[in-house]
Amino acid sequence: MNTPNLSSFTRIPASTHGIRPQQLSKAALQVITTLQEAGFTAYIVGGGVRDLLLNKHPKDFDVATSAHPDEVRPLFKRCHLIGRRFRLAHVYFGPHIIEVATFRANIAPDAAEQPAEEIEQHRKHTTTGMILRDNIYGTLEEDAFRRDFTINALYYDPTSGEILDYTDGYQDIQQRTLRIIGDPWQRYREDPVRMLRALRFVSKLEFNIHADSAAPFHNLAALLTHVPTSRLFDEFNKLFMNGHAYANYELIKQYHLLPILFRQTADALKDATVGANFALLIEKALKNTDERIRQNKPVTPAFLFAALLWQPYNLCSLNFQKHHHQTPYIANLSSAAEVISQQNKIIGIPRRLAVFIRETWHLQSLLTSFRKRHITRVIKHPRFRAAYDFLILRAASGEDCQIAVDWWTAYQAGNDAERHELFRNIPRPAAKT
Ligand code: ATP
Ligand code: MG
Repeated sequence: MNTPNLSSFTRIPASTHGIRPQQLSKAALQVITTLQEAGFTAYIVGGGVRDLLLNKHPKDFDVATSAHPDEVRPLFKRCHLIGRRFRLAHVYFGPHIIEVATFRANIAPDAAEQPAEEIEQHRKHTTTGMILRDNIYGTLEEDAFRRDFTINALYYDPTSGEILDYTDGYQDIQQRTLRIIGDPWQRYREDPVRMLRALRFVSKLEFNIHADSAAPFHNLAALLTHVPTSRLFDEFNKLFMNGHAYANYELIKQYHLLPILFRQTADALKDATVGANFALLIEKALKNTDERIRQNKPVTPAFLFAALLWQPYNLCSLNFQKHHHQTPYIANLSSAAEVISQQNKIIGIPRRLAVFIRETWHLQSLLTSFRKRHITRVIKHPRFRAAYDFLILRAASGEDCQIAVDWWTAYQAGNDAERHELFRNIPRPAAKT
């Protein structure tokens, strides 16, 4: 990255920034005090400081320290070292975990004072410039410049009350600007997930992304295909299970990331016959998820995958029927397997979620085909509720299945006699799936 001016930083006193130590968790305060009393420097950094400055409730407090993991461990009764990509200490206080990270550097091998081989032992790069492992310890300044965004690189010392700011993050917080630290192109190449983190912070904090920080997205989006699929699944959850799913989806589309993350979805959205309904179905599924999170109702990423891949699944099934002469039943099974396996190449979908997705889809045809022998079986199916909700979503987005929704709604609400009556008046199949 551009060699930062390591000597310049701003001290922001408590009278200016307004954070009080009491706003930290007891556990976080305790960790900082213990480290400082043992002679190390230690700060709260990252989301905790950022969110307190924005009057938001921080999810957690992360600690950055000059102590190496092996020096951290003996200071606490319950402390585990974890992580391959980054070596971290987890300090346990009752149910709370405080993540303690040693200051790290982000120096390009040629700019470093250490011999190149020594650095390469600790750091691995791929040919695209992506960092696979970096455990090069550094100074506080270096730690600030290796972080992703300026607003995430503010260091709060509850003992002095000061915030140390190396990257003008405080000003960016005031101006509600998200800005990546250093050269944007290089920083996204090092870790393409930073593009997704950027969108997540923009929606969550209602910030504007600085034009220079967004400029590389279109060109570098494809680098996301090099990121481990399990990491992208974690990131999917952070993007779509945090109450801002719809806003994040819109940003993903706006910044040309949809064809990379969900190629099949992007293609199906362009389909002349199903595209418009599909767009509405996705929008409703995401907004429903946001609403359920606001109401503290349970949500599962599987339901969103089922929605995002619904028309790819149908289109692929039709293709199997037409070109491979499969029966609809077999074609649906083959299609589900194919569509999920394609999606798995970029975002790893855990097996139990894949089962949920397949069952939700499979039940759609049973819910709309009205075969008598299926009905009592379907209603007892553990995935019935999800499948019924999915059917409602389809009807609401313009698919021809409102009759089935009404029938199943009445069937669930009915007593034995009413169910018997409904059973005698089964509608003709409404939707073809
Ligand atoms: P959240 O509220 O979502 O937890 P956060 O900023 O705390 O936001 P974390 O993923 O918990 O995000 O990461 C903690 C800090 O570690 C970040 O604030 C940032 O300084 C640094 N960080 C995390 N991921 C990266 C990354 N990919 N590249 C550089 N720095 C990162
Ligand atoms: Mg955090």
